Amino acid sequence: MNIKAVREQFPILHQEVNGHPLVYLDSAASSQKPRSVIDAVSRYYEHDHSNVHRGVHTLGSRATDAYEGARSKIASFLNAADAEEIVFTRGTTAALNLVASSYARAVCKEGDEIVITPMEHHANLIPWQQAAKATGATLKYIPLQPDGTLSLEDAEQVITPRTKVVAVTYVSNVLGVINPVKELTAIAHRNGAVMVVDGAQSTPHMKVDVQDLDCDFYAFSAHKMCGPTGIGALYGKKSLLAGMEPIEYGGDMIDTVELFESSWKEAPYRFESGTPIIAGAVGLAAAIDFLEQIGLDEIDKHERQLAAYAYDKLSEIDGVTIYGPRDNRVGLITFNVDDIHPHDVSTVLDAEGIAIRAGHHCCQPLMRWLNVSSTARASFYLYNTEEEIDRLAEGLLQTKEFFGHAIG
Ligand code: PMP
Repeated sequence: MNIKAVREQFPILHQEVNGHPLVYLDSAASSQKPRSVIDAVSRYYEHDHSNVHRGVHTLGSRATDAYEGARSKIASFLNAADAEEIVFTRGTTAALNLVASSYARAVCKEGDEIVITPMEHHANLIPWQQAAKATGATLKYIPLQPDGTLSLEDAEQVITPRTKVVAVTYVSNVLGVINPVKELTAIAHRNGAVMVVDGAQSTPHMKVDVQDLDCDFYAFSAHKMCGPTGIGALYGKKSLLAGMEPIEYGGDMIDTVELFESSWKEAPYRFESGTPIIAGAVGLAAAIDFLEQIGLDEIDKHERQLAAYAYDKLSEIDGVTIYGPRDNRVGLITFNVDDIHPHDVSTVLDAEGIAIRAGHHCCQPLMRWLNVSSTARASFYLYNTEEEIDRLAEGLLQTKEFFGHAIG
């Protein structure tokens, strides 16, 4: 991978922040956008925009082709069997809420179980809490190992024939750990449960094959993978989507409407009410083209190198605690510096032009498990370099000095 050429495609990276060249280490929250994605969205608005699925005029057809073309592109990107297995949503959060509100609330009843893990992002936790409360199902957790990984033996214990849904993140946005979702899917299926995968942190970084995983639902967001904000998708197996009721009603999702009764289109259209996020879909398609041109395997390799480099570099600094395993992780490092609040770490680094994230990362139960209230997190993407990680390490030494700590 020619990192210099990659960086040149991201206009935002070439600026100074607080008098220093920007080092952007917050891609797990949202990635930056390459020129090709920005241009695709502008081009769409300049040449092709109209509403979709309605007009019979030329622009209406162009917009519809662009929107439905994006659906097909996502399907082949994830290796879904059919474009109709892709539902456009606002992002991962909306996709997971759709499964919890439509599928889980319909199939779960008292005595049933929904199984998740304590490392879930709130987006893959609260919808299941609410579905459990609404249906009388029991919410259960596969416990974490001391290093933050999941054990399949534990999963075998927790998932039972009463389990209706297992929902697990492919990659933790805090621990960076890659979970064995294929094996978890097999356990879920042996017990008659469906498997829901939160793909927010995996889709940007590694090749995903939903047929190989055999998961039933898979959710992701475009903005973490070089695409626009406000769009993402839910993959769902055709047979499951076909039996699900919409959770939002209005234009475009209907078949017929009478004064007192209405009927819906087939999936996925029944889940896409109102004017959809057309320009977002165009941008997401351009982002997929961009990532595929570079190659997900190359991106994965580059990030694993950065993660290992950063893990070792930050481990050398006295007083830095890193969370999660060293290996089998994507390119993010969550850490704390002894006696310095992560917000202070982030503020001092920002003065050096280095953008990292501090907080609970929408994982309050995981913070409690780690026995911290918040952490700092540096996350890397295809445009980051080892030199930037060196600047992070130097910035951390400066932070310690600023707060009067011994330098080590
Ligand atoms: N799950 C995980 C693991 C995430 O990291 C995030 C985003 N931080 C989400 C879900 C939610 O994604 P979005 O805000 O794009 O809906």
